[in-house]
Amino acid sequence: MTIHVCSTCTKPFMAWEQKLDVPAYKLMEPLTCPYCGDSTPVESVTWWNTQALTEEEQQDYLSSL
Ligand SMILES: [Zn+2]
Repeated sequence: MTIHVCSTCTKPFMAWEQKLDVPAYKLMEPLTCPYCGDSTPVESVTWWNTQALTEEEQQDYLSSL
């Protein structure tokens, strides 16, 4: 699981790939921001799940930069 930062609203969110039995070749799959709904194609072998961080998690992330 990784933290991505939305290029549109600049908020951090969690993103992780589905672990499914699928052919392991890279695709460009849309990574959708849970805050503003903006999507950016990012390389993935399956597809992306995204989840908004809580206010506290956002603070922690921003203070760790
Ligand atoms: Zn966004």
